[in-house]
Amino acid sequence: MQWEEVLAPRMGRMKASEIRELLKLLDQPDIISFAGGIPDPALFPVAAFQAALTSALAPGRADTALQYSVSEGYLPLRDWLASHMTGLGIPCGPENILITSGSQQALDYLGKLMIGANDTVLVNWPTYMGALGAFNAYEPVYDRLDPRENRGAEEFAAKAAEAGGRVKFAYLSVDFANPTGETIARADRERVLNLADDLGCAIVEDAAYQALRFDGEPVPPILALEIARKGSIEDCRTIYCGSFSKTLAPGLRVGWVCAASPVIGRLVLMKQAADLHSSTLNQMAIAEVAAASFDAHVAGLRDVYRARRDHMLAALTREMPAGVDWTRPEGGMFVWITLPEGMDGADLLARSLETERVAFVPGRAFFADGSGGNTIRLSFSRADEAAIDEGIRRLGALITRQMG
Ligand code: PMP
Repeated sequence: MQWEEVLAPRMGRMKASEIRELLKLLDQPDIISFAGGIPDPALFPVAAFQAALTSALAPGRADTALQYSVSEGYLPLRDWLASHMTGLGIPCGPENILITSGSQQALDYLGKLMIGANDTVLVNWPTYMGALGAFNAYEPVYDRLDPRENRGAEEFAAKAAEAGGRVKFAYLSVDFANPTGETIARADRERVLNLADDLGCAIVEDAAYQALRFDGEPVPPILALEIARKGSIEDCRTIYCGSFSKTLAPGLRVGWVCAASPVIGRLVLMKQAADLHSSTLNQMAIAEVAAASFDAHVAGLRDVYRARRDHMLAALTREMPAGVDWTRPEGGMFVWITLPEGMDGADLLARSLETERVAFVPGRAFFADGSGGNTIRLSFSRADEAAIDEGIRRLGALITRQMG
C-alpha cells in the first residue's frame, strides 16, 4: 500500500512530537528527568477519586454514568465550573461552558472552528508546541505576537492578506506559560485585547496552569478584562480554555472551554460530530472531587511545587556558568533556559542523556519558525529536591564544559 498517495495534504504538517519521544525515557530508572510537564503522581488525590467513582457507580447514578449523554458535558460539572469562572472575574452560566477531553481537544476544535488554509494565527515565540501541533492540521500561517510589543493591527493584517488569508485568532498561554514559565502582565493583556478589537479576530486564552500560582499577585484572565470592558461574556471575543490536568488528574482527560454561548453552540456541534461527549464517568468523578476539595488540594500542590521551583532556581544560580540565563516563574511547572548563542539545545540533550543521564526538552519545537535553537525547557514538577540538586549540578557542569 502506497499510503502517501491517499494521505490528505494536511498530514504533511503533522510530525511526531519531540516530547512524546522523550516521555519514553522517563521510564529508565537512572534518568533524572526535567522533561515532561506532568504532575507528580504522588500528589494525585487517589482516595478522593476512589470514593467519587464508587459513588458515581452506585445504584441510581450508574445509569447516568454508563449511558450516552449530552455533548455539552455533565451539567453539575458545568455548574461548578460556571461558579469557578465567576470567582475568576468571569460571570457566566453553564451555557457558556463546554466540557472537552482535556484542553488539548479544545485547541483542536478551535483550530477546526476558525482556521482555513493560509489563515494567520498569532502566537508567541516560543509557544506551547501542543497548540502548534493541534492547529497545524488546519494549515495556518503563523505570525509572531509578543504581547509586550506595540505593533499595529495594520501590519499584522497586511502580512496575513499577503499570506492568502486573514488573522483568525491570537493564541496565548497566559499564566506560567508552557514553555517559558512567564505570565503575561495585565497591561500586556489589555494591549492584546486592543489589537484583537482592531483586527476583529478572536483570542484563545490557554489557562492550563492558572490555579498553580505560588506567589505574586494574580493577573485577571484576558476574558475577565474583556468582560469588564464590554459588560457581558456574550459580547466577548476571548475564548478561555481550562483544564483539570495540572490540578486533579490528566489521565481522566477533562478540560473545558468558557466563551460566548454562540461559540459554545458551534463547538457542541463539533463535539457531537467528533466523539459525542467526553466520558461521563470521568466528568462525574471530577465534579465530585472538585466540589469537595479543589481549593484544599490545589493549595497542597502549590506548596510542593513552590518548594521545587525555589530549589531549582537556587541550584541554577549555584551551578550555571555566566552567559546562561533563565526565567523566574511565579507558578506552574517550567523554567526556561537561554544558552549562550550558538549552543544547541538538541545537541546538549543528546550529550546530556549520554554522559549525565539528565533529560529536558530542547526549545526549538516551541518556535513556530524553528528558531530558538539555543533554548531548553526544564520542568520542576516531578523531580524531588535531591534529584533537582544533582540534575542541575550535572547539567551546569556539562554546559560549562561545552562552553570551554
Ligand atoms: N495547554 C498547555 C499550555 C499545556 O501545557 C497542556 C498540557 N501539556 C495543555 C494545554 C493540554 O493539556 P490537557 O489536554 O491535559 O488539558
